[in-house]
Amino acid sequence: MTTPPRRKRTTSAGLRRDELDAVALLLTQARSVLFITGPGMSADAGLTHHRGLPGLARKKPEDARLVELGMSAETMVNRPNMTWRYLLEMDLHVRTAQPTRGHEFIAALERDIKRCVVMTTNVDRLHQRAGSKNVIEMHGALQDLLCPRCEISRRTTGYHMMDIPPLCTTCGGVMRPDMPLFGEPLPADPMTRLQAELEQGFDLVMAVGFGAMFPYIARPILVAKSEGIPTAEIGAAQTDVSEVVDFRFRGTPMRVLELIWDAYRQLPRATLL
Ligand SMILES: [Zn+2]
Repeated sequence: MTTPPRRKRTTSAGLRRDELDAVALLLTQARSVLFITGPGMSADAGLTHHRGLPGLARKKPEDARLVELGMSAETMVNRPNMTWRYLLEMDLHVRTAQPTRGHEFIAALERDIKRCVVMTTNVDRLHQRAGSKNVIEMHGALQDLLCPRCEISRRTTGYHMMDIPPLCTTCGGVMRPDMPLFGEPLPADPMTRLQAELEQGFDLVMAVGFGAMFPYIARPILVAKSEGIPTAEIGAAQTDVSEVVDFRFRGTPMRVLELIWDAYRQLPRATLL
């Protein structure tokens, strides 16, 4: 008779199994979870970012500066064709990218957990394509167009079927994506929605895929921590909250989420609903 091999305490990626199991258990018990997702989540889908812009990563600093100039609010007004060249490049990358297993896991949890909210800085809509519905897009989305003159908006699935630059059918003005360009403030609506969700509270807060943290990204984690609510961070880079969170998984979001999913599936889900 042979004994089964003992389960190793760490995964091949050096992640602690007891911690992966603990987060999986918390997910089965939680009535509400907030996922805060950033560029690393989309990088697993092949979308490399430059300052939040998917598909526009540049190796040379001078080329990166050109991207920032082209994607500025001023260029959008004065030379919209230049901005639209970059937007088309982004759209091509975003449209051909596929949601990862990480996106799929978060979407599956939305079906299991009473209140599962995704707050994302990504503009690629990969969460929704994976099936998530409760998504707060902090930076808007590339696919939503807006006429700056008469404020009419239009939802698209991509720019491939449009004349470029697209014109507003009401006033003839050049449309733009409903997302902040360089030099513009964040949209107010998502911030208001996030605030309303935060006021209801969460049982678990997880940050996934950030290289750097803006204060509004770190705040839900810091608030949760101060209230004794479990917090976790998944990502390759060290951030401002890495030393604060209860569980820190250093690795690519897709890989870590897959491991948590494996552990989650083996647990009987608490009957909450
Ligand atoms: Zn218009």
